Amino acid sequence: MQETETYDFVIVGAGSAGCVLANRLTASGRYRVLVLEAGPADRNLWLHIPLGFGRLFTDRRFNWCYATEPQPECAGRAVIAPRGKVLGGSSSINGLIYIRGQAEDFNLWRQLGNTGWGYDDVLPYFRKSEANERGADELHGGDGPVAVSNARDQHPLALAYVEAAQQCGFPRNDDFNGVSQEGAGLYQTTTRDGVRCSTATAYLKPARRRANLLVATDALTTRILFEGRRATGIEYCRGGETRTALASREVIVSSGTFNSPQLLQLSGVGPAALLRSFGIPVVADMPGVGEGLNDHYAGRIMLRCREPITLNDAVGGWGGKVKAALHYAVSRRGYLTLAAISAGCFVRAHPLSETPDSQCSMALYSGDSIGGTLHAFPGVTGVCTLLRPESRGYVRIKSADPRQAPAIHPNYLATERDRETVVAGVKAMRRIFRAPAMAHYIAEEIEPGAACDNDDELLDFIRRRGSTTYHPVSTCRMGQDALAVTDERLRVRGISGLRVIDASIMPAVVSGNTNAATIMIGEKGADMVLADADT
Ligand SMILES: Cc1cc2nc3c(=O)[nH]c(=O)nc-3n(C[C@H](O)[C@H](O)[C@H](O)COP(=O)(O)OP(=O)(O)OC[C@H]3O[C@@H](n4cnc5c(N)ncnc54)[C@H](O)[C@@H]3O)c2cc1C
Repeated sequence: MQETETYDFVIVGAGSAGCVLANRLTASGRYRVLVLEAGPADRNLWLHIPLGFGRLFTDRRFNWCYATEPQPECAGRAVIAPRGKVLGGSSSINGLIYIRGQAEDFNLWRQLGNTGWGYDDVLPYFRKSEANERGADELHGGDGPVAVSNARDQHPLALAYVEAAQQCGFPRNDDFNGVSQEGAGLYQTTTRDGVRCSTATAYLKPARRRANLLVATDALTTRILFEGRRATGIEYCRGGETRTALASREVIVSSGTFNSPQLLQLSGVGPAALLRSFGIPVVADMPGVGEGLNDHYAGRIMLRCREPITLNDAVGGWGGKVKAALHYAVSRRGYLTLAAISAGCFVRAHPLSETPDSQCSMALYSGDSIGGTLHAFPGVTGVCTLLRPESRGYVRIKSADPRQAPAIHPNYLATERDRETVVAGVKAMRRIFRAPAMAHYIAEEIEPGAACDNDDELLDFIRRRGSTTYHPVSTCRMGQDALAVTDERLRVRGISGLRVIDASIMPAVVSGNTNAATIMIGEKGADMVLADADT
């Protein structure tokens, strides 16, 4: 059965960027907007409890649960690649850390030819989106939709980690989104009163009562429709039916770094040879669609603690779970309000780096696998993220069937500089764990263990046990060169009526966590769409 509906704008994906767009494009009441989300509504409690992220890593109801292709420089392993599949997208399942990146990241985007994307240009959009509980100042917003909060309870291990970093000579930093990112401090999170603030909560929920916004959940967009080189609408599947939605103004693809290039490729926009190999008619031969995948890889070490004060102990057994749940239910405090990571230190680890190149964080738990069972003894994990990886890979369809996952190949650790930097970063992080304030709590490093003490062994360990910190970008990169997919107004090059607005347009990954920057892209993208529509 085929039904056709017509809107001004059709947005594919209700994630970090898609929810921002849904809100801003419907605010004036002038435009009718359809938002399609492949996943369900965000009613499940664990999507709103901060510590719920631990359960959502492997929950196929709300997570695409992708994995990379075997990574040649990571001992041939497939690395997990979770992505949100629910209203709010990845902002509904992420680790909640609010760190925008360095001013230099955005100034680089501008220097690559993307006029309007320097730090001074994007700062107003960060401020517009933010409601920081510390209040507004020239760098922060106080009344935007996204709540940003301090940790409600300061864990002794998080405080000790910050002190230990200072004992190593790193400066104290109380605002990683402030004037300088360098140094150690406690993370702020996207929460309000101990509850997750996803973009579904921040932007979509307040807009849903508007008559000009329709949100369709469990609706998988299968292809973009074209008349010549103009996007006219999309085809989607819902409840076993195939339907068509037409966009009289624009189709906006906000499906994230893996699914946006996949949808373009499935629709005939991408490398011609790849598309033809799956029998897909070519609308535009664009070799850059899906290329340039850039992601944060991290070395992870694990340490056993002397005292039973970690998450392993607090929520490991049933008694602990019940106690934590009651504490949370009564006061919205305690272990369930914790984000993935509580404290960190931004470090210049490589001698050639002028700004921090490593984010050395501590998670208050340990376990054999990410999202798996926690250790039965007290433990913490040190996570050292390589902030500006040179390595680039790709996303390419493996089938013409939209339900089949694309090939995801981040090509982690492909360059010498990346390998040198991650080793230097993990060494800096180990120093922090060995400084007196942390040594007081640590019984021993269990992975890789003290016996692993030279650079070659450490690199080997990082290859075998490292993982992503879930910040893939750049597969629909904006730019001016032949491989760029969008221009600086996020319009797909050579095609009218089509934009990509999400993390995939970043020219390179930011030196931080990508949710805040993606929300900024949504805000700025919405202004561009409206400016073009209103004229
Ligand atoms: C486990 C995890 C932890 C993270 N931790 C942090 C953190 O602590 N701090 C931080 O800043 N960032 C973190 N991130 C990264 C951050 O959340 C993402 O960079 C950001 O949410 C990406 O936004 P997006 O709009 O590009 O895509 P998404 O938010 O992923 O949204 C894309 C949406 O499109 C939908 N979609 C895809 N294809 C289709 C289709 N064909 N039809 C219909 N709908 C479709 C998806 O289901 C999804 O809802 C984390 C991410 C993950 C997965």
